[in-house]
Amino acid sequence: VLDGLRRRGALKESDVDQAMRDVRLALLEADVALPVVRDFIAQVKERAVGQEVLKSVTPGQMVVKIVHDGLVEMLGGAAPSEDGTPPAPEGLNLLGEPPVAFLMVGLQGSGKTTSTAKIARRLQQRDKKKVLMASLDVYRPAAQEQLKILGEQAEVSTLPIVAGQQPVDIAKRAMQAGRFGGYDVVMLDTAGRLHVDEGLMAEVAAVKTATNPSEVMLVADAMTGQDAVNVADSFNKRVGLTGIMLTRVDGDARGGAALSMRAVTQCPIKLLGVGEKLDELEEFHADRIAGRILGMGDVVSLVEKARETIQEEDAERLAKKIQKGEFDLNDLADQLKQMRKMGGLQGLMGMLPGIGKMKDQMKNANLDEGLLKRQEAIISSMTAKERRNPKVIHASRKQRIANGSGTSVQEVNKLLKQHQTMAKMMKKMGKLGQKGLMRSMGGMM
Ligand code: GDP
Ligand code: MG
Repeated sequence: VLDGLRRRGALKESDVDQAMRDVRLALLEADVALPVVRDFIAQVKERAVGQEVLKSVTPGQMVVKIVHDGLVEMLGGAAPSEDGTPPAPEGLNLLGEPPVAFLMVGLQGSGKTTSTAKIARRLQQRDKKKVLMASLDVYRPAAQEQLKILGEQAEVSTLPIVAGQQPVDIAKRAMQAGRFGGYDVVMLDTAGRLHVDEGLMAEVAAVKTATNPSEVMLVADAMTGQDAVNVADSFNKRVGLTGIMLTRVDGDARGGAALSMRAVTQCPIKLLGVGEKLDELEEFHADRIAGRILGMGDVVSLVEKARETIQEEDAERLAKKIQKGEFDLNDLADQLKQMRKMGGLQGLMGMLPGIGKMKDQMKNANLDEGLLKRQEAIISSMTAKERRNPKVIHASRKQRIANGSGTSVQEVNKLLKQHQTMAKMMKKMGKLGQKGLMRSMGGMM
């Protein structure tokens, strides 16, 4: 009944379709490639229909939030955790016998040479790696000198330039110098190409075979529009990519290329270039780029606010029940769900003032996520009456519940015992009438 009052009901297909028209436009304006927009919208639509609409939010706003979360998930390659924390950005792969090779590839002018120096500088300064850079660009006049100058600025070694050498030979020489010089990483900056070109592509593939790099990083301009899919797909198919670095994120581009390239290659976007200077390098955060692509940040934060409000209301409702000494198995089920989000009961208890003793008891209970899930399953296998009044659960009911939840009677007993302990504790705290305590506790649930 309470749920009915708090929620607006489920999203209908017509709600979703209507909202998706705006979303589609936003994605196209952000220069996400058309086929990617189509696929993405179809996916999110399927997910959105039937989802609950939060109170004080319109169906359209709800859809935007679902789209935003879908974008974050797709860009980050992982779902944000239940409390909304985005997935951690993926790091560079330094595994392997040193020196490991990093191969930088991409179109001409995308920022390969600059990005090579940026990454090298950071690996050396922040991660204390010894880095050697080598330019394999034998086509553009002064390309090798450009890297040398950047190396001097960044205080990173560059391979001495030998005139007339071919890219694969330079790469081999770089690896050898890396081995002899005790380097951790050898960064190979390749020649650009104006468009996807088979000759140069074959050359990069040959360099890859000769050096067996741990990273093959596609460097791509955030301004790349509809062409992003083609570029990323070609490099990925022909050479094989391990990551993407998006440059010129400091510009006006909304960065739809990030989504296009991620969608077509499944490669993580690992780094962002945010300026011409060598320290203008940032970690990729899926939520930030998602916000930028969608350009509907105010709607997203509105829905997040609404969700927080509902959580507060839930907490207050629970606090009231506790004060009245009511804490049934439905409440316990809610708690278990929340606990899983918060890293278990220990985490919860640790935050409560004055429950140190209880916390020690709980420590022995060894509450892991699997256990919490099984306990939730036990409660789901009970009837509504049993949940409201656990006293009616006798032997035969216990057996039925254990069968229904795929657990054992012992586990059912244990859960009932735990509920009793908690209910008692709640009642005691309720009687104390510590409103502040209740609220602080409720806020965490
Ligand atoms: P390459 O041809 O792929 O090696 O590209 P370069 O590294 O030579 O870069 C081409 C131009 O883009 C240079 O003027 C760089 O300073 C500039 N550039 C590279 N990365 C960024 C970036 O993240 N932001 C901005 N604003 N400019 C960049
Ligand atoms: Mg270059």
